Amino acid sequence: MADTKYIFVVGGVMSGVGKGVASSSIGKILQMNGLGVSAIKIDPYVNVDAGTMNPTEHGEVFVMDDGTECDQDMGNYERFLDRDFDARNYMTTGSIYLDVIQKERNLEYKGKFVSVVPYIPLEVIGRIERASKKDHADVVITEIGGTVGEYENILFLEAVRMLKFKHPENVLLVLVSYLPTQGSEGELKTKPTQHAVRSLHSAGIHPDVIIARADVALDKKRKEKIAFHCSIDGKSVISAPNVESIYEVPINFEKERLGDVLMEKLNIRTRKKKKDGEWRAFVRNIRRSTKEVRIGIVGKYFATGDFVLTDSYISVIESIKHAAYKEKRKPIIEWLDAEEFDKKNKGYRTSLKKLEKLDGIIVPGGFGSRGIEGKIQAVKYCREHNIPYLGLCYGMQMMVVEFARNVAKIKEAHTTEINAKTPNPVIDVLPEQKELLSKKNYGGTMRLGAYPARLQKGTIAGDAYGKPRISERHRHRYEVNPKYIKRIERAGLIFSGASPDRRLMEIAELPREKHPFFVGSQFHPEFKSRPLNPHPLFRELVKAGIKRREGTGTKKK
Ligand code: GLN
Repeated sequence: MADTKYIFVVGGVMSGVGKGVASSSIGKILQMNGLGVSAIKIDPYVNVDAGTMNPTEHGEVFVMDDGTECDQDMGNYERFLDRDFDARNYMTTGSIYLDVIQKERNLEYKGKFVSVVPYIPLEVIGRIERASKKDHADVVITEIGGTVGEYENILFLEAVRMLKFKHPENVLLVLVSYLPTQGSEGELKTKPTQHAVRSLHSAGIHPDVIIARADVALDKKRKEKIAFHCSIDGKSVISAPNVESIYEVPINFEKERLGDVLMEKLNIRTRKKKKDGEWRAFVRNIRRSTKEVRIGIVGKYFATGDFVLTDSYISVIESIKHAAYKEKRKPIIEWLDAEEFDKKNKGYRTSLKKLEKLDGIIVPGGFGSRGIEGKIQAVKYCREHNIPYLGLCYGMQMMVVEFARNVAKIKEAHTTEINAKTPNPVIDVLPEQKELLSKKNYGGTMRLGAYPARLQKGTIAGDAYGKPRISERHRHRYEVNPKYIKRIERAGLIFSGASPDRRLMEIAELPREKHPFFVGSQFHPEFKSRPLNPHPLFRELVKAGIKRREGTGTKKK
């Protein structure tokens, strides 16, 4: 294709209605039409990246191969488009200003007066063009965080205006707008969408497509109303009702012929045959999966007031789903508050018994002390009661602490993250990191992004991956302390995956004869699971869960 095409996605009315999924789905349908698609997320906050944000504030911090800590929408793009992105696909107000200021300091503007407009929007456009080149994209989808009319994304809308003005034939604007319902009949209201379009006008731009998010499908009358009041042709108003699974969204968009609308408007002609068979089969599988598999997640980031912030663990949840669908199971996810299992809590024994009813347990990543003893109790219960267990990062570290304390009899074993004075720091920062920390150099002390590991043949992990060398994504500061590895191994835990120099322990597991599935990884496998290609560790957890459910697994002790 001669020119790269740019699709911008903005939100109207309110946030949290699935703009990320809509953007990913637009990418997916274009990809199914044989186009090379890249995706970019722009977040309007001042944080340079998502690394310093609390998950309860912001949702999960997603990590890409190059170690970029970013918004969870990048995870959606990677999952839907089945490709890896990097820092160049993600920007925030903070990162843009940082670059512009740095360039000014380096005299790169050659003595010019560097004003916010046009230099900030120009930096945004430059980044989008660079990402497009890097990804060899025919089409780049850029999602602008927040909603139109907010002070913080004005400069991004200005970037859209500039690019659209320069290349009207190559730039398209999609507004994802929410239609609330009113009254007992649940009438869909279009007025907020009209206001959102007016806000766009004040930024000098007009939407080409409106995706109408609502609880239900849009009727003809409502479609016509939006088309008329927003000056947009009827076929460009796309109905996007709630769906059972986000993976159905591209298929629903196709029912509305969104792919054709986008390609026609951007003047894209492709003779390639549609490649949507696998995705359609996958979605059919989701609908047909009726038998259940129940997985519990022991965490803490969801206990904020009355809300269960499942956003904090979105990649873990999606990974469970991918694995369950592959096995034709309907995943039921239960949230277990780690603090309930703490011995300090009177009813902790009764709470632990709840684990029995589940087919598998996950202790996901985390930081800090809240809920830690509860997590350790949950690990112990899973180990002693043969409940399939998968520990992710902190969940692996807690598995090692529990095993060290209760099986290897290493007194008061702990991680120095919680108890700096423990006589037995089985989880600790490495000496070279300690030096950085002593200088308060926190930024450089996390192991971030992709690192290689070697797997031991014949182990659960070795067989799950079916290859000796893997690469997985990390985000942590602490490691299994090399001084304790031999003692822990002698007591029966296997470190079946390690860095190629065997300094860093990557996977721990109990042998199959001892436990049906007791595995932990220092890395985050959830960042690499894809709908059509579930992650091997999640898949094995789900398989072990199904065996337990159907009574074909190892019997209770
Ligand atoms: N808090 C632990 C560490 O820093 C684990 C981090 C995580 O689970 N991502 O090592």
